[in-house]
Amino acid sequence: MPRPIEAEVDLSALRHNYLLARRHATRGAAGARAWAVVKANAYGHGLLRAAAALGDVADGFALLDIDEAVRLRQAGMSQPILLLEGFFTAADLAACVEHRLSVVIHCLDQLQILRHARLPRRLPIYLKLNSGMNRLGLVARQLPTAREHLAAIARGGGSDGLTLMTHFAEADADGGEACIRWQLERFARMISDWPEAAACPVSLANSAAILRYPATAHDWVRPGIMLYGGSPFASEDAASLGLRPVMTLRSTILAVQEIDAGERVGYGGTFVASRPTRVGIVACGYADGYPRHAPGGTPIVVSGQRTRTLGRVSMDMLACDLSELPAAGAGSPVVLWGEGLAADEVATAAGTISYELFCALAQRVPVHTV
Ligand SMILES: *Cc1c(COP(=O)(O)O)cnc(C)c1O
Repeated sequence: MPRPIEAEVDLSALRHNYLLARRHATRGAAGARAWAVVKANAYGHGLLRAAAALGDVADGFALLDIDEAVRLRQAGMSQPILLLEGFFTAADLAACVEHRLSVVIHCLDQLQILRHARLPRRLPIYLKLNSGMNRLGLVARQLPTAREHLAAIARGGGSDGLTLMTHFAEADADGGEACIRWQLERFARMISDWPEAAACPVSLANSAAILRYPATAHDWVRPGIMLYGGSPFASEDAASLGLRPVMTLRSTILAVQEIDAGERVGYGGTFVASRPTRVGIVACGYADGYPRHAPGGTPIVVSGQRTRTLGRVSMDMLACDLSELPAAGAGSPVVLWGEGLAADEVATAAGTISYELFCALAQRVPVHTV
């Protein structure tokens, strides 16, 4: 018998969430299309699993690694694939051309490389503008040089259409539309004296913007976390947004300890029983990807009922309170997150976000699709 832990990935839920993202986007812009953001191994869900779920519905896939893009092509995906950080060196361009990848261009160095490359085929370009996130993207004073490069690239037959792109830093914040308006204004100002840009397709929205500000949808949206059933908002849960959980991390109670008042549980003895307590030991620890920072009291589901964790998370085990669940014992099923317990709730208890829980799922946990 393998160790009794597994992650279940619900492909129909992934599909449902993708279609929901696109429906929101088309409320804002009738013809909007949606990149399925599958970076970081589809947020820990498995790149090819995500492709299997979305292959016949997704308008395109967006990710970071050229190798991952090639794997999607080899799996038969023929829709556009966008490299969200573009190419890293001139040597990457051959693969971009061969596999018909769309590339984000976020800096002048990339434009220079593209200008001097002799490409056998044109590449679709997503020009990323820095509208205030201050991570990637061109700033206003670089645009004259960028335009000169772009004109030369177009003359040389290197670009197959230009799409303008930026990324919101605070679309998930609870301050209303003002949280994105300042970036929209900067974006508009950056291209105000660039008439050709006004005619370009535009891609702005991440999950938070798709859900809250469908008017930002334009031509292409970029949903990530919502595809996997995570809420981008601290103040709104995934279910109320119509999202279905995709990953359910399941395990089993390995053992039960009946402890007296005053006994402690786990490393450091951080849980002290104030009364006789039935402690369930779960086959799941931080080496499986469960957050070590989840404090005692983090919600957990045993035999379909919610209870709480006790004490510190160990590498391979954690403890939970079975005092109110007399029927539960060794062999009882446990849900760490997913069906019946939103990953966002566990993430919040651990001081993080569901993105990190999903991405941290460890290699050693077997994954089954349903
Ligand atoms: C990761 C990423 C997204 C998706 O963001 P979510 O918050 O997961 O929806 C969109 N755009 C870019 C550029 C990204 O890097």
